Amino acid sequence: MVSKPPTERREELVAVYREMCDAHACPLKEVRTKLVFGAGNANADLMFVGEAPGANEDKQGLPFVGRAGMLLNELLEEIGIQRSEVFITNIICCRPPGNRDPLPEEIEACKPYLFKRIELIEPKVICTLGNFATKLLTGDPTGITKVHGRPQEREVAGRVLLLFPIFHPAAALRTDSVKQLLRADFAKLPALLAEHTEEKAESGDAEQLGLFH
Ligand code: URA
Repeated sequence: MVSKPPTERREELVAVYREMCDAHACPLKEVRTKLVFGAGNANADLMFVGEAPGANEDKQGLPFVGRAGMLLNELLEEIGIQRSEVFITNIICCRPPGNRDPLPEEIEACKPYLFKRIELIEPKVICTLGNFATKLLTGDPTGITKVHGRPQEREVAGRVLLLFPIFHPAAALRTDSVKQLLRADFAKLPALLAEHTEEKAESGDAEQLGLFH
């Protein structure tokens, strides 16, 4: 599939954000404070997809800015990747009350917008964080404990890319052994990226677009 230029894709991404703010028919629209669309490089090779905004994210309108986000920052730093190089988002953009699990109808309402974000950003590797994102994007009900750390080549939003399921940082904060597994999976990321981003680098298409908020 032929890519549109990064600047065009970024403009379309901003239009999707505006459309979501105005017209997104999410059952959680009335109870959220801010829509959390995602943030980072709109032309990122690496994308992280989490579950749903929490209280801090809901207040600030940005993903992973609470304790789980601090751990994500720390793990990125350990492997030499800046947060501004990647794009971080969630499967749903509105906070479920009391941080309960997202409901199937909430996931369904947000799904087309998640696929649109993936289509426009064109990541080479997507790290799915935890069960909800992993099951949604792999289309497979196998839980994260079984599939974490194993890259899967899949067609997502019309492109073949690598899904890399890993534990959710919030689960790692609760259990030390999970944190160790998450850290070990993170350590595999630089090699996976190097293997799967050659094409983009060679085509001179690695333009940085700065932060998308
Ligand atoms: N947990 C998530 O899944 N997403 C966030 O943005 C924050 C915490």
